[in-house]
Parts: sequence; structure tokens; C-alpha cells
Amino acid sequence: MNPRNGDTISNHMDLDLKDGLSRDELFATSDGLTYNDFLILPGYIDFTAEEVDLTSPLTKNISLRAPLVSSPMDTVTESDMAIAMALCGGIGIIHSNCTAEYQANEVHKVKKYKHGFIRDPLVMAPENTVEDVLEAKRKNGFTGYPITCNGKIGGRLLGIVTSRDIDFREGQLDCKLGDIMTKVEDMVTARKGVTLQEANHILEKSKKGKLPIVNENGDLVALIARTDLKKARSYPNASKDSNKQLLVGAAMGTRPEDKDRLKLLVANGVDVIVLDSSQGNSIYQVEMIKYIKSTYPELQVIGGNVVTRAQAKNLIEAGVDGLRVGMGSGSICITQEVMACGCPQATAVYQVSAYARRFGVPVIADGGIQSIGHIMKALALGASAVMMGSLLAGTSEAPGEYFFSEGVRLKKYRGMGSLEAMERKDGKGALSRYYHTEMDKLKIAQGVSGSIADKGSVLRFLPYLECGLQHSCQDIGAKSLKDLIDMIDSGELRFMKRTQSAQIEGNVHGLFSYEKRLF
Ligand code: IMP
Repeated sequence: MNPRNGDTISNHMDLDLKDGLSRDELFATSDGLTYNDFLILPGYIDFTAEEVDLTSPLTKNISLRAPLVSSPMDTVTESDMAIAMALCGGIGIIHSNCTAEYQANEVHKVKKYKHGFIRDPLVMAPENTVEDVLEAKRKNGFTGYPITCNGKIGGRLLGIVTSRDIDFREGQLDCKLGDIMTKVEDMVTARKGVTLQEANHILEKSKKGKLPIVNENGDLVALIARTDLKKARSYPNASKDSNKQLLVGAAMGTRPEDKDRLKLLVANGVDVIVLDSSQGNSIYQVEMIKYIKSTYPELQVIGGNVVTRAQAKNLIEAGVDGLRVGMGSGSICITQEVMACGCPQATAVYQVSAYARRFGVPVIADGGIQSIGHIMKALALGASAVMMGSLLAGTSEAPGEYFFSEGVRLKKYRGMGSLEAMERKDGKGALSRYYHTEMDKLKIAQGVSGSIADKGSVLRFLPYLECGLQHSCQDIGAKSLKDLIDMIDSGELRFMKRTQSAQIEGNVHGLFSYEKRLF
């Protein structure tokens, strides 16, 4: 603003320069607001977007370089997603709609992940045939398979089969791989403990496509592929523990048998437990929080879901290290319609985070995040991180196979309270999110099952989200998420409600047609 005759601008925070509303004023009426109902007013820029620091707490003891969490849903987070989330500075929470052993193994894969090393390569046995390799090639697109004595990782390495070994053998489909493989004594291998840089050097010199890594007994422990090395980027913001292993979370329920699941998860190095319940303010959850905090005092526990201060109070008193906030705002969710219970998400995030901050308990805004703008709004209301389902579903790291419908490449995405997820035979995880006790009565669905378009790799998508957040912080005038919190507290951060017509104005309008490419 330019000063007029004689005016001086001594303090740009003069009362009459405070446009819009403070956060508390925005929520002063009892109307429930969603992210689309308001905007954040821009501030003053005196730094570049790259300088913005997105470090934020996930729990009392865990801090992330990017405030992004993937939801514990069986169409969103298993080890591939959790690895990608952690590499990019966030964290993935492995779902529990599976056996405890399966879930613990997914946790194990994340903890043992080393960038560039394939820990669970596809392996064959000497008894497998050329036909098996051709079939696997059709499915996976590559032909290099290590051969171990039992056809599994961990077995003694006997050789490797590559395209050169099976070329021209289309007529000998039942030929055993043991007879045609390149034998281990003629191969180049590396010993466990080799660094990525050393492995790179060995591959370069040997001119081979694959480098098997073996332990002192000659058992196969990992594989490095030349193609992966070429793609390998560094991830300076990766979320890691003190042993430099990636951070990972896991969901679980609050039934007595979940204590066995917990034991397995802890044995496999899980960093944070999310107690997965659509209504977390229950005696079951309070007791489980107390049990976890007394049995594994170091383990971080996120409780929820909650949407009110009263709900939050009970879980904070029980000892949670973080709170997950949201009821009925998820894209696949029909809870508000069916149960008549819930809360518009912006209001829920505001009321719980304003309260939980007094006790130093971080809040994760869970559900309803559709864009960078929504993430920014959740953070500006006081959340420390956001949890996403639909935004990450449909990426190549989400569990499940792609399929085509009307020419569009899709992946399944379903609510954990959909009948389809709750009826899964191999575990009771999804059921326990919605039913506190065992009962065989009619199940009431609280979610739907659908599909979502292919989004490519999350390793490309997350940097887009992070870069977008940095630019958004820059517009707001917050050089870090810590500064953003200070701006909320001081009332410097200003908000404005958006009428229906303001929302229309804020979206693309008046065009005959357009293409919306985001990055
Ligand atoms: P989204 O990011 O909007 O797709 O919401 C994901 C969130 O929805 C999850 O993190 C859960 O909190 C919640 N959720 C997952 N499954 C269901 C369901 O079946 N019904 C209601 N909410 C669900």
C-alpha cells in the first residue's frame, strides 16, 4: 500500500489493517465449516518458496520434514506406499485389514528398505521352467530372475536366468532353469553390507543388468537392478529413525487379540501405532492407550478418530502422542448420512487442534483432502499433518492392480467401512474399525467402494504437493510451518468466509472447455 499525503505506515499490523477474521473469529458462530467455506488472506513475502521449511510434528516425539501421511486403508498403504511416503519426508500407516503376520511383514519391508536395494525380488527355483519365466515376463515385464535352492529370497543363490539364457528357447518350454541358468560361480555378486555407491561401481564394471547381494553363507538377501540405479535419486528429506531406517506406522484395533498383533508390529520395528477407529472416544481405546504406553513407553500412539474437544480430552488424558481428526469427511465415507454423527472437517480440525495444542498433542487432519489448498487450510487451522486416502489411491505404489474401464486406467479405492472391505475373509481389521466388540449381527456399511484414475508414481506426486505447499506458505507469508502456528496464535493469520458465489468465482468459470493439468 502506498502512503498518502502525510500518512506514515509505522506498523502494518495496525488494527485498521486487519482484514478478514482471526482463526477464532472464523469459527465464532456454531456453523460447521468445510475447507471450501473459507480462504486464507495473503501476507507479506520476503523469502523464496524453496526456503520454506515444512517440518512439522506427527506425534510428541516424531517430527516429519513434510506433513503428509498416507491412510491405513487396504487400497492405499502397504509397504510400497509407506516406503515412498517416508522417502519423500512423510510417513505411511500400514493398514490392518490382514493377518498380523502379513501386516508385520509389510512393516519389516519398510524398516529393512535401503534405497536402490530390492529386498523382495522375484526369485525362481532350479525346478522352474522356461515357461514360468515367459509367463512371469508377460506379467512383470522383465526376464532377470535369481535362482535359489528353494525359489525364495533367503535361499542359497545357485544362479540367475536372464533374457540371454532363455532367448531362442520358446520351443523348449518345459526346460528346467537349473539346466540353463548362468551358474553362481560365473556370476558377479556383492556381499551384504555393500553401499549403493560400491554396488553402482561393480555393476558399471561388470556391465551386467542385475547384481545379487548375498550373505556370508551365500544366501540371497537382496538384488540391485541397473535400471533402478539409473533412476535412483537422493531423498534428503527422508523420514528416518536413529538407525537411519525409514519411519513407518501401523494401524490396529482395540480388541484383546490386537495386543498380539501389537507385539509382532513392535518386534518388526514399527515407529508409531494408529488406533484405527471411526469413533475413538471409547473405553476400549482409552484402555488400549494405557496398555500400550505402560507396555511400550517409547512407542508413539496416535488415537482417534475424534472431532470434538470432549472426545479429545479423554484420549489426551489416557496418554496419546497424537490425535487423528475427522468423522464423515472422507471421500468414500457415508458415516454422516448413515449414523447421523460426524462434524464438518474444517470445524473439527479447528476445535480439536486449538484444544490439543494446550497439551502439546499434535493433530492429524484426516479425510476430505482433495488438493494442496485443502492441506494448507488444514495446517492453517492448527493441524500438524494431514492424512490422505483418495489423493494417494490410484498411484502405482497403492496396493492393487490397474484395470481399464471405458478406456481409462483405474485402480480400486474403497472405504474400510464398505461391506466389501469388512467382509474380507483373511482378517478382521476393517471390521474392528467400526465394531468395538465381536458380533455377528448385520453389518452397517459406512463407506463405499469405487475406483480412481491412474496418477502415476507417488514419488512424482509428493514433490508436487510439497512444492505447492511451499508456494502457498510463501503467499501467506509464513517461512515455516512453525511460523504459521505463531501467526495463528498472534492473530496475524487472517481468514475470510466464502459465500457460494465466491466459491464459484474462485473456480474456473466462463470457459467453453479447458484442460486442468496440475504438474
Ligand atoms: P479421503 O482422503 O477423503 O479419501 O479420506 C480418507 C479417510 O477416510 C481415511 O483416512 C479414514 O479416516 C476415512 N475412512 C476410510 N474408510 C472409511 C469408510 O468406509 N467410511 C468412513 N470413513 C472412512
